Amino acid sequence: MRRLRTQVGIVGAGPAGLTLAHLLHRAGIESVVLEDRTREYVEHRIRAGVLEHGTAELLRDAGVGERLDREGIVHHGISMQFDGERHRIPLSELTDGRAIVIYGQTEVVKDLIAVRLQLGLPLLFEVEGVTVRGFDEDAPVIAFRHEDEEHELSCDVIAGCDGFHGVCRPAIAAALRTFEREYPFAWLGILAEAPPSSEELVYTHHAHGFALLSLRSPHLSRLYLQCRPDEDLDEWPEKRIWKELQARTALEGWSLNTGPILEQGVTGMRSFVAEPMQRGRLFLAGDAAHIVPPTGAKGLNLAIADVAVLAHALDRWYRTGDESGLGSYSEICLRRVWRAEHFSYWMTTMLHRISDDPFDQKLQLSQLRWVTTSDAAARSLAENYVGLRIA
Ligand SMILES: Cc1cc2nc3c(=O)[nH]c(=O)nc-3n(C[C@H](O)[C@H](O)[C@H](O)COP(=O)(O)OP(=O)(O)OC[C@H]3O[C@@H](n4cnc5c(N)ncnc54)[C@H](O)[C@@H]3O)c2cc1C
Repeated sequence: MRRLRTQVGIVGAGPAGLTLAHLLHRAGIESVVLEDRTREYVEHRIRAGVLEHGTAELLRDAGVGERLDREGIVHHGISMQFDGERHRIPLSELTDGRAIVIYGQTEVVKDLIAVRLQLGLPLLFEVEGVTVRGFDEDAPVIAFRHEDEEHELSCDVIAGCDGFHGVCRPAIAAALRTFEREYPFAWLGILAEAPPSSEELVYTHHAHGFALLSLRSPHLSRLYLQCRPDEDLDEWPEKRIWKELQARTALEGWSLNTGPILEQGVTGMRSFVAEPMQRGRLFLAGDAAHIVPPTGAKGLNLAIADVAVLAHALDRWYRTGDESGLGSYSEICLRRVWRAEHFSYWMTTMLHRISDDPFDQKLQLSQLRWVTTSDAAARSLAENYVGLRIA
């Protein structure tokens, strides 16, 4: 048995865990990050790609924005398509110049791993059998196996950044109240070697179901189709995917660029919140505490906003002994979380085919017409989309 000691023990090397570790390092606080997957797997897991204005700023301020500024693509608007019309929502005009940046979660993760390893700070991949204990007695311990050796990491605080299927939330399940909604549809997402067909994201409402035109770089398109949660990918050869994308996004005078599909997968849609996001000296952050359907592009941004609050509270605690920031961590985060939950739910139910009832479709079209013609409604969407300021 190897015994180790640090100030903050972080479970999970996704965006939440890696950003937290980096922010703590900048504040002079030690941490150890434990990840059960390989570095290769974590760096290539294709997921989110839209950074809110505040997320991009936070990464820049933390000294990890150099490649983001070089390769990220700044967008000042998004479009909504319905009834055969495409309407642009000028995000920046409506939010005093704030914008979003297209930069894949894979790239954020690669940048954070690179800086941590360059600094020679502890980040262990392929750990096994992680368990947490002692957080109620101010003596937190994370036990795990690494390279066939048992380890015990004693720390002041445990940060549960281990995603929806991690071990930290179940460890405090008895103290939590959970709120959940499953949607009867999912997204079939593809990454294609094709230049983006549209400069900005296009959210499409169509009788066949939702579609989204997005991108990862000037050469890579990221495209989504609403599908069944149990969709069998074998039933979706490339030809059918492109045909369906073309049908749902068709617009006079515009065409969809196609190319080889590099990756495809089905993502379920769920809203989930666990409250409170803390117990004793264990704090949950990111997907470990909450999930949103991806329509609002909020999951990654919420994860980073949580750890910004946690890093700030820990910094204050270590510097002054003041525990109030830690005490109100969950309350502060949950305000933003519930705003994002509502926004993501609202975007999801406005844009997807939610039933066969024509009444639902008429209401959706009325809402879409409203957000694309009313300045007040467009401003509200824009404010949520570019993201609230990080507390
Ligand atoms: C399949 C999928 C597709 C998505 N697509 C989009 C999208 O298109 N747009 C969008 O906005 N959002 C999307 N999201 C949401 C977004 O990617 C997440 O909100 C974001 O990854 C949250 O970051 P996190 O660090 O909290 O959690 P995660 O990224 O899940 O990181 C948690 C980490 O903890 C590790 N871990 C888990 N259990 C343990 C353990 N026991 N011990 C050690 N380590 C552990 C995991 O391997 C992982 O590396 C998607 C999510 C998923 C799952």
